[in-house]
Amino acid sequence: MKIGVLSIQGAVSEHLQRLKDCSVEAVTVKDPASLSSVSGLIIPGGESTTIGKLIELAGLKGPITELSKSGNLAIFGTCAGMVLMARQVIDGVEKQPKLELMDIQVKRNAFGRQKESFETELNFKPFEQTLTGVFIRSPLVREAGEGVEIMAAIPEGIVAARQGNLLATSFHPELTNDTRIHQYFVDMCRNIKEVKKIKV
Ligand code: GLN
Repeated sequence: MKIGVLSIQGAVSEHLQRLKDCSVEAVTVKDPASLSSVSGLIIPGGESTTIGKLIELAGLKGPITELSKSGNLAIFGTCAGMVLMARQVIDGVEKQPKLELMDIQVKRNAFGRQKESFETELNFKPFEQTLTGVFIRSPLVREAGEGVEIMAAIPEGIVAARQGNLLATSFHPELTNDTRIHQYFVDMCRNIKEVKKIKV
């Protein structure tokens, strides 16, 4: 099984490393051809407006959306990746580029200037032990639809959510040595592989 990391901008190498730590074949995704062989795609943090525009320029928006909606691609978005996956974005730029995959409303740069970057311990629902969330000019989930499971929250709001094959975190699990969230996503991708096998 291969998992791709969208390699347009942002924390690409860190995600590739975490996937390797999980003993998974990790590949870079820059164009539609490289999408066809992967069961999952990580959309890293960076700047959602830039990444979104470059997704469109690379011709990736259609293929990502179609593969996701047909159940053939699991997607994990961190920070800017979460913004890109959201149905609705508060405080986005005019014509904020979006993939509109998840039924969540997010607020960009939700922590204000003095708290733009910080670390905090948080509970990610499936795990018994807390993990360290690294937040860098992060978004918060303001509203989540019925089909969305809240995976983690801090006093300021929701910071992780899952909807079927879609996972999004406000924070950056790739910036710590803790591989648990990447492992959780790898397990989501293994289900995709099963679906693909059944379809074949
Ligand atoms: N504030 C950035 C944005 O919206 C996200 C920051 C990040 O990914 N670390 O796009």
